[in-house]
Amino acid sequence: MTDFLIKGALGILTGRSGAAARAEGDIRVRGGMIAEIGSLAARPGERVVDASGAVVTPGLVNTHHHLFQSVLKAVPAGMNEALAAWLRLVPYTFWDRIDEEALRVSATIGLAELALSGATTVADHHYFFSDRYDFDPVNVLFEAAERFGVRFLLARGGATKGRSFDADQTAQLPVEPLDRMIASVEAAAKRWHDPSPASMRRVAFAPTTPTFSLNEPELKEVAAAARAMGLRLHSHLSENMDYVDHTLAHHGKRPVHWLAEHDWLGPDVWFAHLVESDEDELCLLADTGTAMAHCPQANARLGSGIAPADRLHGLGGTVSLAVDGAAANEAADMVSALYAAFSLHRAHKGVGAADAETILHWATAGGARALGFETIGTLEPGKQADIAIFDLSAPRYLGQHDRALGLIVSGGQAHVRASFVAGRQIVENGRLPWLDMDELAADAARVVARITAPREERRLRASM
Ligand SMILES: [Zn+2]
Repeated sequence: MTDFLIKGALGILTGRSGAAARAEGDIRVRGGMIAEIGSLAARPGERVVDASGAVVTPGLVNTHHHLFQSVLKAVPAGMNEALAAWLRLVPYTFWDRIDEEALRVSATIGLAELALSGATTVADHHYFFSDRYDFDPVNVLFEAAERFGVRFLLARGGATKGRSFDADQTAQLPVEPLDRMIASVEAAAKRWHDPSPASMRRVAFAPTTPTFSLNEPELKEVAAAARAMGLRLHSHLSENMDYVDHTLAHHGKRPVHWLAEHDWLGPDVWFAHLVESDEDELCLLADTGTAMAHCPQANARLGSGIAPADRLHGLGGTVSLAVDGAAANEAADMVSALYAAFSLHRAHKGVGAADAETILHWATAGGARALGFETIGTLEPGKQADIAIFDLSAPRYLGQHDRALGLIVSGGQAHVRASFVAGRQIVENGRLPWLDMDELAADAARVVARITAPREERRLRASM
């Protein structure tokens, strides 16, 4: 099952940099790993995967997501609001209505959207944990990922202090004492975290924001606890000027400099956004190997700006690509993210800001490095066979002289002819064979109706 030959591709994008970004020929997979790349003849009895008219890439890596938000898309109250008001009106208004079924359906929608855009690795930042739940979100999310067969990292979020907003009509946000948070991360890691190189499941320690979710002395404790458990650190940072204003006002420093004093930088740390990072901060991120989860579409949708991913890349830093939660990005698929990054950086700083191969590098090798999955992210012998094959027969790709780049420079809806994780096929001809899409659509409609029903009606349904 995990031995085959991918044959006849019109191009191979390896995810590597420079001249190594492209390869020619065929790809042989043996035992779930890439065995060789070149002009290869099929051996007797060898399964051949036809890649004619298609481009082959590493499976795409999404490094920051909130799967619970896939049933919170296009919420009218939040459509034209910036970050703080949007947080209050969308995720923080609905969080306590996301019960076990809603989370399962939401995660299924999000993972389906990602898998059908060529993603094979997903990092989900889940940040609502409450005593009031009669279920464990960590288990629901890992079980959903297992059904899809994707590599999955759960960034376990949460807060030890509440956050107040200008107009507070939201359900009180869940907080937990630090020792309980650490114990809960430890329990999640014990059950799910596999540190082995070819791991399918990892856990990271990921308080929602270092600025607003923890008390300052707790930052070092969290960093030390994560490192003692062998877990990476993740969080949101500098998504807009609110973060910078906050740390300047309270700590006299910009966010990255402030976190440097609390052991929160290093090659085992990655931050979502970093839109408002100055040159000094970018140098410090690059020097320490701290990675960026670049979320160009969510940043655009919320009017936050364009993160200096191109500059961090130019300084030798690690940039990865992410879609962020679908409540702030109604196109939470990786091919839309590739095109958004390609076009936004050029609109912002000119055509030299980022070429197509660099954008793909962020979405593959960069993502693997940010998440610490060292055996994926590029197509080269010895790596895990996490591979996507994109069909390029749609009209938008016709007439292109350099056909291999169509996936990135044309955007739109990709057609994944096949994708594989460790050589196991997850997408077949644009479909997830086990997933009934009509049933998922009905589930989505039912969940949205339930969580948007008036409070009285929700109470009645809950007691039935
Ligand atoms: Zn986020």
